[in-house]
Amino acid sequence: MSPRWDAPAPEAGPASRPNAAGLTRAALGDLLVSLGEPAWRGRQLFSGLLRQRWTRWEAFSNLSKPLRARLEAEVDLHWPTIVQSQASADGSTKHLFGLADGHQIEGVHMPYEDRVTLCLSSQVGCAMGCTFCATGQMGILRNLSAAEIVGQVVAMLIHHGHPADRPINLVFMGMGEPLHNLDHLMTAFEVLTDPEGLAIPPRRITVSTSGLVSGIDRLASYPRRPRLALSLNATTDEHRSRIMPVNRVWNLEALAEALGRFPLQSGERITLEYVLLKGVTDSLEDGRRLAAYARRFPSKVNLIPFNAHEGSGFLPPDEARIRALCGLLADAGITVSVRRSRGQDVAGACGQLVRPKSPRMAPSGDED
Ligand code: SAH
Ligand code: SF4
Repeated sequence: MSPRWDAPAPEAGPASRPNAAGLTRAALGDLLVSLGEPAWRGRQLFSGLLRQRWTRWEAFSNLSKPLRARLEAEVDLHWPTIVQSQASADGSTKHLFGLADGHQIEGVHMPYEDRVTLCLSSQVGCAMGCTFCATGQMGILRNLSAAEIVGQVVAMLIHHGHPADRPINLVFMGMGEPLHNLDHLMTAFEVLTDPEGLAIPPRRITVSTSGLVSGIDRLASYPRRPRLALSLNATTDEHRSRIMPVNRVWNLEALAEALGRFPLQSGERITLEYVLLKGVTDSLEDGRRLAAYARRFPSKVNLIPFNAHEGSGFLPPDEARIRALCGLLADAGITVSVRRSRGQDVAGACGQLVRPKSPRMAPSGDED
């Protein structure tokens, strides 16, 4: 299969009116200036959108009535809407979001004692074509806009009545390859980390990539850069290229070099996600090579037992093998965890989404 990610992904069609949702504080200021208002009112708009999470112009009690009427007439306030929610016995909820053009994406809300973790999508479908992943088999339909990325967060916080003081972790492990949509992702980061909005610290945001080295290098230079997770998933180029076509462009060596030059803060580590496919990527030899790879830069390993989905042709590993690999890595001095996918009873785990209308899953827990 030839790579399909060397070209930009398609974008949402042009909108007839500006949409205030998903704009940075500065862009909202510009929008108000274009309506003849002072730029500083952009802060009131921003706080109304992200802090108060008002979803209709008439609710903006911090703006004058005439301005609200003007906004109503000229500017959209359009977040993605939750069209279906499935609660899992473990407390997590998988949400299906409807987008303006009829596409659907998924996000997962996972409450923990001291925080909530939201798993987000970055694209409709995915261009990377990983053979074990249901989203990969859909192909790429389009990038999500910044409003659609931020909107998953806002809609889930509204739905769950999120208290203002509860920490939020974000993981980009839903549909799509985030580094294939880096421009919109960076705008979304600017909105999500803004101290006058949700103020989510960049260290609480994790971007998971299949290994686009060009994107990793770009992300490295971003001032409010999130944490990085790499979906390694195999330990030889032969195996990795077979299940992850991107490896034919940037192989394991190129990836290790990119991760080695990624500027980490003190104590920060790169998460290596490793999907265990029975008989394909779960040998003890794989475990030894994984340990050697993980030692090349500050890292920790997250083993992910394969979540079976129809027609994949892969099987989950045996429990005994998961334990053996975990022990092998721990003995080699590697920090290792096993991701027990949350929401499996509602098909809410990584890589189970087949079609927008048939619930897929997002990942499980946190990296930390
Ligand atoms: N595209 C990005 C982020 C989304 S995929 C990436 O690939 O990193 C999130 C994680 O789910 C990745 O680590 C991926 O390897 C894993 N995954 C995909 N399909 C899976 C499946 N069926 N079972 C278990 N993990 C899967
Ligand atoms: Fe895309 Fe990630 Fe699935 Fe690969 S594993 S096809 S990169 S979503």
